[in-house]
Amino acid sequence: MKKMFLAGLLATTTSFVFGQNIDKIINATEVERIERTLSSDEMQGRRTFSPGIDKAALFIAEEFKKAGLQPVNGKSYLQEFAMVAPKFISASGNFDNNPLDVKNIVVVTCQPTISITDKSGYEKVTLAAGKNLFTEAQNYIRSGKNYLVVVDTSHSKNFPRLTGMKRQLFKADNSVVFVLSLTTPSTFAIEAKHEITEQKLMNVVGILPGKKLKDEYVIFSGHYDHLGIRKPNEAGDSIYNGANDDAAGTTAVMMLAHYFANKKDNERTVIFAAFTAEEVGGYGSQYFSRQFPPEKVMAMFNIEMIGTESKWGTNSAYITGYERTDMGKILEKNLEGTQFKFYPDPYTKQNLFYRSDNATLARLGVPAHTISTSRMEADSTAFNKTIDKYYHNLDDEIETLDMKNMAEIIKAIAISSTSIIAGKDTPSRVDTTQVR
Ligand SMILES: [Zn+2]
Repeated sequence: MKKMFLAGLLATTTSFVFGQNIDKIINATEVERIERTLSSDEMQGRRTFSPGIDKAALFIAEEFKKAGLQPVNGKSYLQEFAMVAPKFISASGNFDNNPLDVKNIVVVTCQPTISITDKSGYEKVTLAAGKNLFTEAQNYIRSGKNYLVVVDTSHSKNFPRLTGMKRQLFKADNSVVFVLSLTTPSTFAIEAKHEITEQKLMNVVGILPGKKLKDEYVIFSGHYDHLGIRKPNEAGDSIYNGANDDAAGTTAVMMLAHYFANKKDNERTVIFAAFTAEEVGGYGSQYFSRQFPPEKVMAMFNIEMIGTESKWGTNSAYITGYERTDMGKILEKNLEGTQFKFYPDPYTKQNLFYRSDNATLARLGVPAHTISTSRMEADSTAFNKTIDKYYHNLDDEIETLDMKNMAEIIKAIAISSTSIIAGKDTPSRVDTTQVR
């Protein structure tokens, strides 16, 4: 009997689906099913580099598959990559046969041993006085090429801090040798040893190819990592479930995948991404941003913490970095005639625009905003606290979220994107000279 009943129910659902009734796909029951799984204790708080987060990744991949998205990587929805943390053992060398002080050598490498001379094909460059040491250094490290960088001694105070660049490196084949020196040598020799440990990470990404504008991308994203397991509270709970931060946004991404895959009328290609490692440095979105040419990304909807009522109540949310593009205006236009309202981020002092994965793509010019409802205004009664008292708290659990309102927000995001996905509207780009 039970089976029969289920089969009948499924058939009815399917016919409604073809009727394009958004409530049949995005509703509180479905939102709760996904949200409850992601924020369950079984996922151990989804800390980056933990087994719990891998479970979450497999669950998200399974949902993308069920939705019928195309995998990002062969048959897999997992966009895997590695980070390397090289631990310094030793370094030595000379410039024109004059020995160098080990304090004046910083080698950024993923190789356990390097031993180079002026004959090794390393390009020799100078990092002059007045230049931004860390920006320039970052550019050399990310270039994919081998460099000997002679750093002007005016940078001597900050030079040792270049070792910070080694805390987490994207695994790469190139090495960059920084030497603090008054002169540029004609001959040199440098040796360095590191203990190399590699750690694997993965984003979960699914693709819905566009009907006509295949090379124009619209991204829906959220981060699925959180804080993991830490010291227990008085009640003995030690798992940071991150139900709102950001199982909620990730749930939205999965719901939207189901919705658009079912609708199948997208002119532009839609990419659904669940990012790893947002809480520990944004590595997931950084890796992701290098896999798709930013100029082809027409819009990014990053979704963070939408499980609670916004300061304006239900049926509303805010958009970070609102004034930086006209994307917010387009979304509002698409929502005309509905109950739902978007507002510009009211907490600009909190720098929320820079505090999530949208910033990585915004820095490349992509109209990339975060949509949220979290009450992030500072709580004047407690240091370093926000009105959202569950933010980065052990009690950020599913019981504190409103499934019905969440479903409304996800539906609104879907509808607000209509003209962008149809290729009718293209948001203005972020001015990269105005982004830090
Ligand atoms: Zn978050």
